[in-house]
Amino acid sequence: MQTAQGTTVIKNGQLVDGNGGPPVPDALVIIDNGYIAYAGPHAGAPPVPPEARLLDARGGTIMPGLVEAHFHPTYFNVAALEDLDIKYPVEYVTLLASVNAKLALECGYTSARSGGSLFNIDVWLKRAIENDLVPGPRLAASGREICGVGGLMDWNPDFRKIGMEGLVLLINGPAEGIGAVRKLVKDGVEWIKTYPTGDAAAPDTNDHHTLCMTFEEMHAVVAEAHNHRLKVTGHCRATQGIKNALRAGYDTIEHGTFMDDEALELLLERNTPVVPGLQFEYASIVHGPEYGMSQRVVDGHKETLEGGAESARRILKAGGRLGMGGDYGFAWNPHGTYAKELTFFVRYVGFTPLETITCATRTGAEIMGRDHELGTLEAGKLADVLVVDGDVLRDISVLEDRSRLLAVMQGGIVKAGRYAGAA
Ligand SMILES: [Zn+2]
Repeated sequence: MQTAQGTTVIKNGQLVDGNGGPPVPDALVIIDNGYIAYAGPHAGAPPVPPEARLLDARGGTIMPGLVEAHFHPTYFNVAALEDLDIKYPVEYVTLLASVNAKLALECGYTSARSGGSLFNIDVWLKRAIENDLVPGPRLAASGREICGVGGLMDWNPDFRKIGMEGLVLLINGPAEGIGAVRKLVKDGVEWIKTYPTGDAAAPDTNDHHTLCMTFEEMHAVVAEAHNHRLKVTGHCRATQGIKNALRAGYDTIEHGTFMDDEALELLLERNTPVVPGLQFEYASIVHGPEYGMSQRVVDGHKETLEGGAESARRILKAGGRLGMGGDYGFAWNPHGTYAKELTFFVRYVGFTPLETITCATRTGAEIMGRDHELGTLEAGKLADVLVVDGDVLRDISVLEDRSRLLAVMQGGIVKAGRYAGAA
């Protein structure tokens, strides 16, 4: 991905640098050739060359670009599990994924970690974004997901003889887990996404208290993935699934819904980040019935939301790490509404806006494995910057409103927002 040439200065705004400290009023950010040269108080800033481009934050906020830590680029208005893999052909899903990526960038998300993709679309989408062919967040790709046969993601009955090839690799036993990872290694993914547990979406045989993979399968997947320097994550709702994942050496936990004291202790010992993805649960409860969601499923989502919110609070309080993101692309939780996650954490879970933004920036970059170059506004880092017309610490929901984004920058280039094309 290209970086800007020359110097750009952002002034007249408060700095929220992503590290979680108090905001710096009347800040200055100086960007040299796409990298941050200075981010701090205007008073005491180094001199700025007269030819520098000026960006006026209009009294608003200068902050790191957001990281969507559980991004499904290929999900598009999914209204039923079946829609996930057979709603559209792969050619059309590829185009939709490109549209979703552009939208995410326009929403202020300069980076995203895939939480799983149909076929190998996210790997190639990442390449197209890196080569500046299409706009989108800097991606960490996962490709197909791994699930046990008969588990949450294996819903097509065998008599249909259509399998699940595009969405998941279905495994029986550790040897097949190793085989699935080896296939993904060849596909070029960075993350292996697995399904250790079920979900409220499948109340009959794979609900949120059931397991979809054995510990032995998970351990084999992790050993093979780590050997190839890939990272592993998994959809973990049931308590035992969370513990299995932590003991197997998972690099992150998706959802981490039902955590008991032992699970929390294992998590903190390993400092493993969790991506709760709670707005999805809330939206399912509120809007699911409009899409034919049964009361049993809605009730399951209620239990999941309560458990997930409580776990998130405990993790934050204990000093653990949380990423923001989760499962946008469903009909009731569509792409383009990613920042609702942040508002939800402030209004319903009880995080402060500053805590929430730190999760969505610095921790997001840590999950991406790119915190040395992304996630905070500090000298030496890539200038992935969000300039917001408003005080995000007073009202975090301004981040939901794309018209309030003045500039969405990647490597110092304004890619979206009101200043796009003008700066
Ligand atoms: Zn997901």
